[in-house]
Amino acid sequence: MARLDLQKRLAILSDAAKYDASCASSGSSKRDSRDGKGLGSNEGTGICHAYAPDGRCISLLKILMTNFCIYDCAYCINRVSSNVARARFSVEEVVRLTVEFYRRNYIEGLFLSSGIIRSPDETMGQMVEIARRLREVENFRGYIHLKTIPDADPALIEAAGRLADRLSINVELPTDASVKAYAPEKDPRTIRKAMADVRLKKEAARERSHTGRRAPRFAPAGQSTQMIVGADGATDTAILGNATRLYASYGLKRVYYSAFSPIPDATAKLPLVRPPLEREHRLYQADWLLRFYGFDLDEIAGTAPGGNLDLDIDPKLAWALRNRHLFPLDVNRAARELLLRVPGFGVKTVTRILTTRRHRTLRYDDLTRMGAGMKKARAFVTLGGWTPGALTDSADLRARFAPPPEQLALF
Ligand code: SF4
Repeated sequence: MARLDLQKRLAILSDAAKYDASCASSGSSKRDSRDGKGLGSNEGTGICHAYAPDGRCISLLKILMTNFCIYDCAYCINRVSSNVARARFSVEEVVRLTVEFYRRNYIEGLFLSSGIIRSPDETMGQMVEIARRLREVENFRGYIHLKTIPDADPALIEAAGRLADRLSINVELPTDASVKAYAPEKDPRTIRKAMADVRLKKEAARERSHTGRRAPRFAPAGQSTQMIVGADGATDTAILGNATRLYASYGLKRVYYSAFSPIPDATAKLPLVRPPLEREHRLYQADWLLRFYGFDLDEIAGTAPGGNLDLDIDPKLAWALRNRHLFPLDVNRAARELLLRVPGFGVKTVTRILTTRRHRTLRYDDLTRMGAGMKKARAFVTLGGWTPGALTDSADLRARFAPPPEQLALF
């Protein structure tokens, strides 16, 4: 087979990496300007964004080492039975690309994933070698995120954790049954064991010896995982329930929800058509409510009759509309945990409210200045200069937020 030039391989292997949803921008609505209207795009491939341990947003070269793969996961474009253009980088090429992009100031780090070539150990060994050369030969201090192969030798995963800032191990699908059905070479128990090992090693790295020496660093930016949404029949509440268990069991920084993109010759094997990207977006919003806004899974499930989130309105608004008896809240008196439940109020807004109201009484205009989303919030709050009156209980409140119904095509 003729060898493609580096540019072509970069195009193939950066495009193939877009299915790894490990970016800070994942979950955002897709915007593109390749039609000539507008400027910029948030879904191009090659460079993605992530948060460094110190909170900075950094750009990463996001590529696969290769999209050849000996496995046959039904939901994956790179599976062995897929008819896609294949390419492969050598260890030296990935190191050189990373260093050159870094020197030109295009990137601040590397996100590296790979299909499985020959064996999990061989593939993981090459990925570790890339990270090792970057750190030890090139003295690369930038961010490295390695997508880890759970079947690989634990010693290789340990070596990856010593070199990388973040490791991720994909759980792949929301249930063990789906993994068995659609990723027959993968074993959910092996995946969980690898995630548990990473957690233990990360915790051990925080310890000091009796002489006060620190243990060697291990994945300081933690571990994350990815679940593909819509390739099986799992409901949103089942997906969020699984994510909640994963956060609790493995100390994950993030669960990424990745909307399944149907692959023409694979869809026949899979039970569902592509879920809308809105589903992925609503799952991220619900995940956020569970982690940072004090909601529990039952409360989110209460907004999802049939197990699936309302795609027309966000889950916090859906919850507030079902719990109108708790509103309107007096912004000048309500407790933090209740203010966090007001649609349109984010964590920062609530912090500003609490700080400001120590000194003076808040008025409606103050909330606007603080960045509160008053279009949503005003039906649920009362404060100086504003009372919602009958708005909170009005029958058409949901309709004010939901998109208008579309006329269905007759033919
Ligand atoms: S192992 Fe990874 S790259 Fe290979 S088919 Fe499965 S999901 Fe795709």
